[in-house]
Amino acid sequence: MVVLLFDIDGTLIVTGGAGGDALLHAFSELFGVAEPQEVPFSGRTDRGIASNLFRAHAIPDTDANWRQLRSAYLQRLTAYLPQREGKILPGIASLLDRLSARTDCAVGLLTGNARDGARLKLEHYQLYHHFAFGGYGDDHVDRDDVAREALRACRAHLRSEPAPDRVWVIGDTPLDVRCARAVGARVAAVATGWDSREQLAAAQPDLLLDTLEEPDALLAQIG
Ligand SMILES: [Mg+2]
Repeated sequence: MVVLLFDIDGTLIVTGGAGGDALLHAFSELFGVAEPQEVPFSGRTDRGIASNLFRAHAIPDTDANWRQLRSAYLQRLTAYLPQREGKILPGIASLLDRLSARTDCAVGLLTGNARDGARLKLEHYQLYHHFAFGGYGDDHVDRDDVAREALRACRAHLRSEPAPDRVWVIGDTPLDVRCARAVGARVAAVATGWDSREQLAAAQPDLLLDTLEEPDALLAQIG
């Protein structure tokens, strides 16, 4: 059994700013901050982004504030997804179709998105049915902990322990590479997000691809 754990933003889809704007607008409105400070989004978890926003504006970084923000974010995300010009990234739809047709692949998510945010985004692009389990960004500031959650969910789904060298993380940032290493997984970096090929190469993934449009290199590696 091969396990494939996909990142969402910059790897499977881009939302045309729907995700980032939904979070920032929800934050602005709830906490009365007209212009939120810039905090890093790429590769971060939603909980981690929220923590950074709270701290940047001296708002208590509590679970209650996070839950309120998440709820307002999800409402806006639902509205924004159809209004923005996002897209499925090249090659993704056919790759997922091919993987779903195989009985020797378990396909899941390893994403910084909150669970319901991941669902809304992937339902919008009609990709959600490909993913049987996942690790999400609701509870973890650190993406490495999301990788651990994704593996726990994978074990529960398979009812067995996947061999570490048969687990692949597919993502678009150096943080995706790092979190794969944290759980002993292999990693394919794909340069369809914000990070350049050079930045990804510096993180030393097992495989580095410009896009997943020609996935043969990945498919050959996973066997
Ligand atoms: Mg990403």
